[in-house]
Amino acid sequence: MSKTSIYGMTYEQLQNWLLEQGESRFRVSQVWNWLYKKRVNSFSEMTNINKQTRQLLEDHFVFHTMDTEIKQESKDGTIKFLFKLADGNLIETVLMRFSYGLSVCVTTQVGCNIGCSFCASVLMRKSRDLTSGEIVEQIMKVQKFLDEKGKEERVSNIVVMGIGEPFDNFNNLMDFLYIVNDDGGLNIGARRITVSTSGLAHKIYEFADKDIQVNLAVSLHAPNNELRSQIMKINKAFPIEKLMKSIHYYLEKKNRRITYEYIMLKDVNDHQKEAEELANLIDDHRHLAYVNLIPYNTVDEHDQYQRSESETIQAFFQILKKRGIQAGVRWENGADIDAACGQLRSKQMNKKAI
Ligand code: SAH
Repeated sequence: MSKTSIYGMTYEQLQNWLLEQGESRFRVSQVWNWLYKKRVNSFSEMTNINKQTRQLLEDHFVFHTMDTEIKQESKDGTIKFLFKLADGNLIETVLMRFSYGLSVCVTTQVGCNIGCSFCASVLMRKSRDLTSGEIVEQIMKVQKFLDEKGKEERVSNIVVMGIGEPFDNFNNLMDFLYIVNDDGGLNIGARRITVSTSGLAHKIYEFADKDIQVNLAVSLHAPNNELRSQIMKINKAFPIEKLMKSIHYYLEKKNRRITYEYIMLKDVNDHQKEAEELANLIDDHRHLAYVNLIPYNTVDEHDQYQRSESETIQAFFQILKKRGIQAGVRWENGADIDAACGQLRSKQMNKKAI
């Protein structure tokens, strides 16, 4: 049997596993503390745990399933990590600095199958889901990198907005969320974590039913089916009515604000007409809605799309504001290292494939 990542176990799963092995009740909190508070790199460093138990852990779990291939730092302090997984696949993780803290953007799948026409990831078909361990390890690698700098910096926020559709890897996503949120471990507040989905409505229901208060962002990008289907083929499976129904369910269950992501594509979805339509769509729950206008980051392979002019973005924003819709414009971080939102892709991988 091949070993699995120790970072893939939720507190409860690890507790149950240890109990099954005949270990005492308090063992799990000791191991958890070594993993996420002291952040050691091997079982042998867990010195208050007897040798036999350490060997047991060693026989079943591993610490490292990925290597840091490349670390690239942007002028604005954004750092992009390229990790090589055990099977040779490459994934990217980005660390961003904001006034409110350090935020990490994680990847959930190798490639993506959603097929949004504007996105760099559409060029990489999904080859597999990441395990919960591989998603947690991205955070741990970044946190350990910060630990080594000795400035006592902590990852305070997480955005699940890297490559992949998180709701297409639902169970591993949920385990990941429970692990990083655990208050005896990394303790990253649920309200400081945001999961972004392309709009898998059936999973929005499931997410709403979970007992964790993580923020939800939905990549809307267009206010009507005709336009949305044109730029996001997922809209054919989950058209706007179905999507909005699931969002209403989420709002009812959670009573939490939802973010709508809206990339601004020049002459495609950035007219006044679309701003009005968008306002109409969310008017009934505008007190719980926030629209994030994202200036499009151009992708070489999708030269049919350009970024909207700043004045157009401003005009769009003003219409929403006048209609009483909360909105903001998100300018990118790390654009000079291809780490801006939606730009993630490994040029290294492309180079190797040629
Ligand atoms: N699959 C998920 C999460 C990953 S993408 C989702 O679709 O939400 C994170 C966000 O970046 C999405 O809103 C996506 O539509 C957006 N995005 C993709 N390509 C982009 C680009 N080139 N410029 C700006 N945003 C982009």
